[in-house]
Amino acid sequence: MKENSFFKEQLISYGFDPTDDQLSSFERYYEMLIEWNEKINLTAITDYNEVFVKHFLDSVSIIKAYDMSGVTSVIDVGTGAGFPGIPIKIMFPDINVTLLDSLNKRLNFLNEVISELSLENVYTVHGRAEDVAKEKDHREKYDLCVSRAVANLSTLSELCIPFVKLGGSFVSYKSDKATEEITKADKAIKILGGSFKKRIDFDLDGNNRTFIIIDKISSTTKKYPRKAGTPAKEPLQ
Ligand code: SAM
Repeated sequence: MKENSFFKEQLISYGFDPTDDQLSSFERYYEMLIEWNEKINLTAITDYNEVFVKHFLDSVSIIKAYDMSGVTSVIDVGTGAGFPGIPIKIMFPDINVTLLDSLNKRLNFLNEVISELSLENVYTVHGRAEDVAKEKDHREKYDLCVSRAVANLSTLSELCIPFVKLGGSFVSYKSDKATEEITKADKAIKILGGSFKKRIDFDLDGNNRTFIIIDKISSTTKKYPRKAGTPAKEPLQ
């Protein structure tokens, strides 16, 4: 196995104690990502070091913003090629992870990754968040909902907050230009039963990144999310 010492050191500086198995899982995940990216569009970033920082490290940097110790279930809305859900699963193996996306071919890739890395208690769900969030098995069933690069915060709140249990949280991965999004999403967050808790800005090897943490403080009214497409077309404001 190729030894990525920079990645390992970064994980250690984040407070992880990565095993050889975890490190080789990331190597294999990288290989599969590049292999499949030739057939289906999975990522614009393909350089080895960039993938390890901008996809893998970014995904697990949630450890800097959120106490993962009490989390048993996570849903990743619009997971694409598995970010942040798969890296979270590799580094927090006891958490049950659900990967949701509306594009089935990306889920085919993820099913291969899950099998190849022998990941347990990871589930792929094909559908639009607007529809899946209405299903009994998914609505208000997760300790934590995460999402990266899917929509603006107002739209995303409508897609994500319905999945979160009372007392759980929604954590959005954003760039440092989050201030305006937070202001615009203020009303949506409240309507959906959330409460803006805090933002955490951090440096990811020279890139400014921001986590937005929203707690679920009351149940989401049945009418949300609205029908597929509406949260993006007419964000609640
Ligand atoms: N989260 C990944 C990342 O950070 O690399 C993928 C980001 S990609 C730009 C957005 C993904 O969200 C796509 O795979 C798309 O199919 C999915 N998506 C967009 N809207 C969605 C919705 N309403 N429900 C489920 N998936 C959705």
